[in-house]
Amino acid sequence: MIPFNVPPFLGTETDFLTQAINNHKICGDGPFTKECHAWLEKKTGAAKALLTTSCTDALEMAALLLDIKPGDEVILPSFTFCSTADAFALRGAKLVFVDIRPDTMNIDENKIEDAITEKTKAIVPVHYAGVACEMDTILDIARRHGIKIVEDAAQAVMSEYKGQALGAIGDFGCYSFHETKNYSMGEGGAILIKDPAKIEEAEILREKGTNRSVFLRGQIDKYTWVNYGSSYLPSDMNAAYLWAQLKEADKINNDRLASWQKYYDAFEELEKEGFVQRPIVPAECKHNAHMFYLKAKDLEERTALISFLKQNDILAVFHYIPLHSAPAGKKFGVFHGEDEYTTAESERLLRLPMYYGLTDEDIDKVIDTVIKFYKG
Ligand SMILES: *Cc1c(COP(=O)(O)O)cnc(C)c1O
Repeated sequence: MIPFNVPPFLGTETDFLTQAINNHKICGDGPFTKECHAWLEKKTGAAKALLTTSCTDALEMAALLLDIKPGDEVILPSFTFCSTADAFALRGAKLVFVDIRPDTMNIDENKIEDAITEKTKAIVPVHYAGVACEMDTILDIARRHGIKIVEDAAQAVMSEYKGQALGAIGDFGCYSFHETKNYSMGEGGAILIKDPAKIEEAEILREKGTNRSVFLRGQIDKYTWVNYGSSYLPSDMNAAYLWAQLKEADKINNDRLASWQKYYDAFEELEKEGFVQRPIVPAECKHNAHMFYLKAKDLEERTALISFLKQNDILAVFHYIPLHSAPAGKKFGVFHGEDEYTTAESERLLRLPMYYGLTDEDIDKVIDTVIKFYKG
């Protein structure tokens, strides 16, 4: 069976993990966490990066830092993972779903402005498959209306838009290091902070409402409870595991990009013949091969293709059921305007096996099987 995903693993993780254990510093913000923070800040140019226990938690922190309250509205795509919405639903905000573009599956920047009201507090672009949303337009809209931007960059570590790291363009950016993502610590994530004035507030929120981070830097002589907060910091053992992978980020990225390109080239003919559509990466976007997807003609054809692949020992999957059609989406949100592409395009999309270390032999088997499905 060719699996759909294998969590990234280089082999060096065990050494780092052993070191973390031997350091007897396994709680949060130990030496490995600091390495990860420094790497993320250098790579993205964010004023501050903080590891979190998940991307879901990073989004939750962003919603708290923006002081999202009941009655506020937040604009996001419906074609996304529920975590994008959870953070804002938890704060009592109304979710306003906007349609996607059929080419990148990202929020349609030209449909955002119409959804803005005086209650709109934030726009949450999701960089699907590690391919950037049209950020210049989104930044311009946000600036003109005085609205904040939280990038759900869960899938976008190492991706860029016009040379800028995704996650570091908006006010806050959220990364995921879940085992299904390009770099992993099992469960984990990070929040990127653009405005230096927000750093201390974020550190307090992440450390149970205490100013412990300032204390650890020696800037005050005892720490105290200064605000509400939670515990959003991961163990240094998890950070050690992640550090092994961030250190070798280019190696992982290049391996994934090579697999992606092999799929992409191989399906050119099927696309020309009108059988499938391949992903589209706009020229200004540098992607990270987070996933390789194809679009079939419709839902029925996709279902048949997934089951044909399964019969041939290949696991392909689909996602997402648009949030506005889910029970919680109906409870907390509303779709603004016409659902021209969200539902129709989501029903056509299937993801092929993609992970660090996927062999050429397995890629060839997947390619041959897809071609066999269409051409016999
Ligand atoms: C994976 C993912 C998340 C959630 O990440 P966790 O680290 O599992 O919380 C959120 N948004 C998107 C778009 C994702 O792909």
